[in-house]
Amino acid sequence: MIRIVGIGASTKDITIRALEAIEKSEVVIGYKKYINSIEELLDGKEIIKKGMGDEIARVELAIQKHFDGKQVAIVSSGDPGIFGMANVFFQLLGKYSGIEYEVIPGVTAATYGASLLGSPLHDFAVISLSDILTPLSEIKRKIKYAARGDLVIVLYNPISKTRKKPFREAIKILLEEINPHTPVGIIKSSCNPPYISLINLNDLNEKEIDMSTLLIIGNSTTYIEDGHMITPRGYVVKQPLHELSRDFYQNFLAGNIVEGPNINCDYYPCHHHSQNCTFCYCPFYPCGDGSTGGRWIKDKAVWSCQDCEWIHKYETVKCIRKQLPLILEDVEDLKKRKKELLKLRRECIHQTRNLNNK
Ligand code: SF4
Repeated sequence: MIRIVGIGASTKDITIRALEAIEKSEVVIGYKKYINSIEELLDGKEIIKKGMGDEIARVELAIQKHFDGKQVAIVSSGDPGIFGMANVFFQLLGKYSGIEYEVIPGVTAATYGASLLGSPLHDFAVISLSDILTPLSEIKRKIKYAARGDLVIVLYNPISKTRKKPFREAIKILLEEINPHTPVGIIKSSCNPPYISLINLNDLNEKEIDMSTLLIIGNSTTYIEDGHMITPRGYVVKQPLHELSRDFYQNFLAGNIVEGPNINCDYYPCHHHSQNCTFCYCPFYPCGDGSTGGRWIKDKAVWSCQDCEWIHKYETVKCIRKQLPLILEDVEDLKKRKKELLKLRRECIHQTRNLNNK
């Protein structure tokens, strides 16, 4: 049996199944750095350490050992299926018949890094910036469309001593396509404890990045709160409807609202001059999602919209106005159809953030 074993992004995160697979093996083959990281598990086994770039030789050797009747493990950092040894194994498997094999998944750098930052992953793309086997034009295309698709983007292998161009090109594309204030998480798992930092895309500095760095670039809804990077999924926070909000939406549905700035309001401007007051009471309240500036007031169970200026922007109001009548036919729909309302909110965030970038 050949087992292609993911040993995880850090030695603490190796799975029970990976430990068992290594224990069953008589021969363990891998890149020397990864073999060294699990040395304490390899007592009494034949160990074959190889260098970077000889992946094919590692697989051929494993197959030869397998035909000699040995139990073989090919170790791969992270997950073998994500820029790991599974791909090269299956590329060569068709050459032979009668090989028994098993792939043991592992914790990849994307999920490991995400666990250190908070909860930054929603729908996401994992892209390697290594152009050793992949043309730079392909890498650039993938980054561009992942950014346009509003995916969270996880960049592996961002830079090496001799390979900086893909990183520079990637950042250039991202700055053209998404908001320069988009949060970015930087993780270096080679440091002990792992180095983590949260910055804006605009502030990403090449000097901070090396081959062991992982970058997680947020999407249009990602925000940072209390040192955590969060990409909200949109869970509904239930709360009774405030009487003033109920009155406001009764008037709204009857067409009795002030569109644009309400300069006769005692509180005008509660956010900024020329604010759009059409949604003085937000139809999404409480959205429970800090991507537009709202926050929980700690220990009070109150959602504060004080710092949300998004709802008072003209393009936001235009986007919401267009679709709100399809959802809100009765004041009770503010509660009953909250999921649909929150989906409308996400759609408008995406639309307005894109408009703001151009
Ligand atoms: S005003 Fe902003 S923060 Fe408050 S509920 Fe509406 S969208 Fe959320």
